[in-house]
Amino acid sequence: MKTRFFWLMTISVMVFLALSSIQGYLIYNTYTLKRNAFIDQTRDQILKIDYNQELDTIVDFWGEELKNQIADYKNQRITKKELLYRIQLKANTLNDKYYQIYKRELKNKKLDYALNYKKNIKSIVIFGKENDTLFPLKKDDSFRLFGADFPNDKANSVSVSRTFSQFDYIDQTGSEITTQQYNLEVKAQDIMQIIDEKSIVFKQMAGLLIGSIIIFLAMVGLFYYSLKTLIKQKKVNAIKTDFINNITHELKTPLATLGVATKGLKVKEIQDNPEALKHSLTIIDRQNDRIQKLIDQVMSNSLNAENIPLQRTQVLARPYLEEVLEDFKMGLQHQKLNLTTDLFPKKVFLRLDKFYFTTALFNLLDNAVKYSEALVEIRIKTRVDRNQFIIAIQDHGMGISKKAQKNLFDKFYRVPQGDVYQQKGLGLGLYYTQQIVKAHYGEVSVESELGQGSTFLIKIPLDR
Ligand code: ADP
Repeated sequence: MKTRFFWLMTISVMVFLALSSIQGYLIYNTYTLKRNAFIDQTRDQILKIDYNQELDTIVDFWGEELKNQIADYKNQRITKKELLYRIQLKANTLNDKYYQIYKRELKNKKLDYALNYKKNIKSIVIFGKENDTLFPLKKDDSFRLFGADFPNDKANSVSVSRTFSQFDYIDQTGSEITTQQYNLEVKAQDIMQIIDEKSIVFKQMAGLLIGSIIIFLAMVGLFYYSLKTLIKQKKVNAIKTDFINNITHELKTPLATLGVATKGLKVKEIQDNPEALKHSLTIIDRQNDRIQKLIDQVMSNSLNAENIPLQRTQVLARPYLEEVLEDFKMGLQHQKLNLTTDLFPKKVFLRLDKFYFTTALFNLLDNAVKYSEALVEIRIKTRVDRNQFIIAIQDHGMGISKKAQKNLFDKFYRVPQGDVYQQKGLGLGLYYTQQIVKAHYGEVSVESELGQGSTFLIKIPLDR
């Protein structure tokens, strides 16, 4: 049974985890698709801006500068480094105008989100007998030609362009002046950065996300509820089995005695002997009473607070309790009992049903005796605190573990003590006591330490 439960649990947890992962995976996939679609859509808009006459003119200006600088470079008037520095400088001076136009065009697109844009140069190569790479000097380097300044890694590519052109320049390196030709390849990349890209995509997915969270929470809730019900069911089953065992045990002795006594009635000698006959009948009667009492106990002690027919009257607390304790002591004449009291001295009236309330007190007092060693020490203390009358019944018995305290007032619950119960009982006393106290609008609780004794507290409101 235990292993079946374990497997059921393990499989449920695994299914739950699998479902959660699938859902997580689907959400991630949707996010990726939505993000890509969003980026594509933005890219389309940017591409439209890129085809602009004014911008092209600025780029051409820069191209001219590049050409001039290459001529100087070819004539060995400047180094490669200087060339790069100069064309970057030129780009910087042109950028103000470029970016202004760009921003204006972007504004006209009326996008409802912000974005940054830039055009990067990826490579500049002069083709000839030997190719001469002007840029990049190291791998994956790039520089911003126009646009905003932002890191490349947090951005998306819009387009990559490659322009190939042929130029002439006047070569003065030798003794004579000649016109030389070179082929130039410039690779550029347009890059955009959507501000708050993630949150925009998440906003687009809000419905799906909220739906998923609700479904997930519902799943967790259902899972938790099923688990709780299952565990509770298991507990109830164990408690029921315990109860059946206990009641069977309780019935066994009187039934066995009844059996012996009724068999005796069939014996001729007993039938002929009026004394023996009377004795057997008395036994039968007594055992019958015992069984009847047991059944009555189960029937009445199973009542809950709403079904207890109270008839409350004004009762003066102190004399009433003294009377109850006197009766209790009388019933335990042959047991060693040390009962001390510390009763609230002032006159306090309680609205009690004396019959039921006495039963509740007797249950607690009986338990204090039942679950103590041979010498029973009980202390009864009463006090008034915040309009409540508090009765504390303290014993120095075996005590109750914190774990057992959680279920102590449950119907049929008995603290497990190995496989055998040292004390007889049906686990109804505390349940019934709690129901009676509840019917008086009060509450009962326990403070206990295993091996250190227990204190049961009854609190009754004085104004109800
Ligand atoms: P029963 O005494 O018939 O088992 P109760 O409902 O009166 O049923 O008590 C439930 C369980 O609580 C008992 O089985 C016992 O283990 C524990 N218990 C009750 N009162 C005390 C006490 N004063 N000290 C230690 N254990 C107690």
